[in-house]
Amino acid sequence: MPCILAEKRQARRIRRGAIALVLLLIAVGASSALILRRAAVIETQNDLRRLSVILAEQAAQSFQAADRVLRAVAEQVAQDVASAEEGIAPDFGTQAAHIALARRMENLPQVEALTMVGSDGISVNATRVFPSRRTLLADRSYFRHFAETDDRGAFVSELVTNRVNGGRTVYLARRLLAADDAFVGVVNAAINLNYFNEFFAAAGFEDGTGVTLARADGSVLKRFPMSPDDNVAERMLTPAWYTTTAAGGGGYRSPGTADGRGPRFVQVRPIPGFGLFINATRQEAEALARWRQQAVALTLAVLFGSLLTGLLALLLTRQFALIARSHRRIEMDSMALRASEARLRDETTALEASEERLTQATQILRTTLEHMNQGIILVDGQGIVAVSNRRAGLLLDLPGAMLAGGTPFAEINAHQVRCGEFEALTAAQRKTFGTGRLPVHETTYERRRPNGTTLEIRSVPLPDGGMVRTYTDITARAEAEGMLALAASHDQLTGLANRNGFGQRLDRALIGAQRGATTLAVLCLDLDGFKAVNDTYGHEVGDLLLQRVAACMRDVVREDDLLARMGGDEFSVVLAQGDAARAAQVARRLLDAVRQPHLLGGHRVMVGVSIGIAVYPLDGGTVEQLLRNGDAALYQAKAGGRNRWCAYASDVGDRERHRMALESDLRDAVEQRQFTLAYQPICDVITTEPVAFEALLRWTHPLRGAVSPGEFVPLAEQTGMILDLGRWALEAACAEAAAWALPVRIAVNLSPAQFRDPGLLDFITDMLARTGLAATRLELELTEGLLLEQTEGVVGVMQALRDLGVRMVLDDFGTANSNLSYLRGFPFDAVKIDRSFLRALSSDRQARALVEAMLTMSRALGLDVVGEGVETQEQLSMLRHLQCDRVQGYLLGRPEPAEIAREGLWQRAARRPDAGARLAAAG
Ligand code: C2E
Ligand code: CA
Ligand code: CA
Repeated sequence: MPCILAEKRQARRIRRGAIALVLLLIAVGASSALILRRAAVIETQNDLRRLSVILAEQAAQSFQAADRVLRAVAEQVAQDVASAEEGIAPDFGTQAAHIALARRMENLPQVEALTMVGSDGISVNATRVFPSRRTLLADRSYFRHFAETDDRGAFVSELVTNRVNGGRTVYLARRLLAADDAFVGVVNAAINLNYFNEFFAAAGFEDGTGVTLARADGSVLKRFPMSPDDNVAERMLTPAWYTTTAAGGGGYRSPGTADGRGPRFVQVRPIPGFGLFINATRQEAEALARWRQQAVALTLAVLFGSLLTGLLALLLTRQFALIARSHRRIEMDSMALRASEARLRDETTALEASEERLTQATQILRTTLEHMNQGIILVDGQGIVAVSNRRAGLLLDLPGAMLAGGTPFAEINAHQVRCGEFEALTAAQRKTFGTGRLPVHETTYERRRPNGTTLEIRSVPLPDGGMVRTYTDITARAEAEGMLALAASHDQLTGLANRNGFGQRLDRALIGAQRGATTLAVLCLDLDGFKAVNDTYGHEVGDLLLQRVAACMRDVVREDDLLARMGGDEFSVVLAQGDAARAAQVARRLLDAVRQPHLLGGHRVMVGVSIGIAVYPLDGGTVEQLLRNGDAALYQAKAGGRNRWCAYASDVGDRERHRMALESDLRDAVEQRQFTLAYQPICDVITTEPVAFEALLRWTHPLRGAVSPGEFVPLAEQTGMILDLGRWALEAACAEAAAWALPVRIAVNLSPAQFRDPGLLDFITDMLARTGLAATRLELELTEGLLLEQTEGVVGVMQALRDLGVRMVLDDFGTANSNLSYLRGFPFDAVKIDRSFLRALSSDRQARALVEAMLTMSRALGLDVVGEGVETQEQLSMLRHLQCDRVQGYLLGRPEPAEIAREGLWQRAARRPDAGARLAAAG
């Protein structure tokens, strides 16, 4: 019973398959027919277009040749006939004129006759006979046309019966003008249209093709091939024709007409200058005749195919029934046999499966080892290399056989010592590493190999006394770190030390001076008039000038003195063992060196410099005091008229007074909450849609006006006011973000002092609960300065905040120490590349390499990268190219009041497809 059911099912399946096949055949047949038809239509239109272009060109040449003659006659008239009173008869009614006229039409087979008509409409001379019969031609359309309009061009008449010979002719005519521009008659050429038969025929027509020559008003002048009633002038009456001629030619399909003419394809081409058109047409029936044959063949093929499919289906069903019956018999016989086989097989399979698993596991291990990017070796308790991969041999440059297995590890080590493998290690490192002893603790260290690559080598001891050691190639990272370290302490433009490098060196110099009880002088320099140079000649010249000034100053100071660019147009000098007298001498020389004219980019550029001097120990005992007092002296020099130097005197206290006043105002401001927050978008680098906003403090003092955060934030940090202010900013920003229509993140800056506050973690936990902001939407921006302090405490708080879901971002990356190996110890999610790098990105190859290095390393550490200070499209493109993740800067949006960010997010939310639900949820 079940077998019969199965059979029926099978038969049904075959039938369905057959029907599907037939349908497919029909579909393929029909679509092929349609495609072929389209091709036939396109081909026809193309043929017609070619035909019409050729014929229009030839017709144009014929008319132009005739027109040239008319123009020549008209020119002659304008020369010889002075005025309308004189008329053309005296000059052009003569036999000489008749002969001249006849000569003009030689070689023009299309021209039957030339006739000159006076302004009264009576013929004056003609080429047919002389003397000319005085025929009144005033009623001819060409005469009326020129008598009534001021047309200076050529005119082609409708088809007319020639009054002399009764033939069908059109007249090409031109106006005749006397020297004084008065109308004195018309000259015409009778054009024999049968002339066109010749080249229409030469074009070689296919069946059903026809050509007409028509005027712009639609009247037909010539039809080819001729029809019996060809002499009846008719018009091209379809609207399609008029729109096509208005458009300057083209093609269309004309539907059939009531008088029995079938649909046609038409191509229209203008004959410029004569208001004439060539129309090439082909009957659709003829154009598609071949296609019809193909369609019939296709239909037959489909029918035949369908028939064959049906037949096949029938045969298959029958055959299948027979097979099924014999199958059933065989099946019953084999069933018994199979039962006994199955038992046997089960037992064998179990055995095989366990063997297979073992082989697979070994295989997987081997493949994994060979495909690891790291080299690996396993040394057993007896000190023999038991496992290794090819990568280990490659990274260590070991001879192939050495790692083949069974080699004592001590032998490998001895080989490495011979090859100078450990020469780059410090004395301290050499005590532990490269001895060939197996480790007792887990260790990791970096080694620069003789071939220049750098490896990270990690060893983990095993319980049996052996070890596993991995080798990772970190050359790229090590090089980038080297570059960053250099960039961190050096100014990219001038190659001098930067503020950071200067601080470190001054520190050391001061310690040296204290130990050796010597003096030391600090010179603070600021260029005068640099901004004007920048504004006048542009930044390129400004940069060149800074480089030139740096070079001049380098010539003045000694080798063991320190010259640094502190930023912008500020420089500093430390004179080792320098006293007040030497400082004054160097200051004078610096003044002279800078003040000389510099020839830059074709401009003669001059700047000055003001210099403040502070000397250790008289003017200060610490780096900070010396710099502050040097600055104060510089301020004095500027106030005293610039371009001079000034030594610190203790009554130089203006800056200090300013600072104190600001500090007192700031204290009031914190109490009275004179602060607001501005919000600046941080955008996706590809879509440029905001994914976060950074909250930035703004202080508007009632008298001072807006005070820059660059001025008051450091003051707030020094005075501890930042604790209170920072908490306010944090809470205000989170409360604002909680009300936004889209869940983008909010980034808040945190000062190191805030981070040291033991209550920070509790404050943030409570604050998030109060404002209702999800912790995952908060990002905290920290500066590198923080990382140098009490590492463990910092890492602990960062980790706890991260556990809440808060993201940690390293701000101003690249400006401080920038040691990425060091960074690895801190749980950051993202880094923000400082905007000083972006500024140099397009002009400076080194800056570009640095940014690339930062991106590579950040990615290796799994950090997102934000590019800060993006001001131009070019910078944005470059960051895109370098695959930075997010961008921030004036190009994408300036810091704006809260309402603007809020409004922008509402509008964006409203534009989204799921807007309703989202806004309801947010509202
Ligand atoms: P930051 O954290 O590096 O903030 C970015 C600064 O770059 C902002 O200056 C911003 O206006 C500016 N900026 C953004 N895009 C561009 C650009 O395309 N070109 C240029 N030239 N500048 C751009 P702002 O607002 O003057 O803030 C200065 C600094 O003050 C901040 O630097 C931050 O260190 C500090 N600060 C601001 N608000 C707070 C705060 O709430 N708490 C703390 N602790 N510090 C803050
Ligand atoms: Ca920031
Ligand atoms: Ca920043």
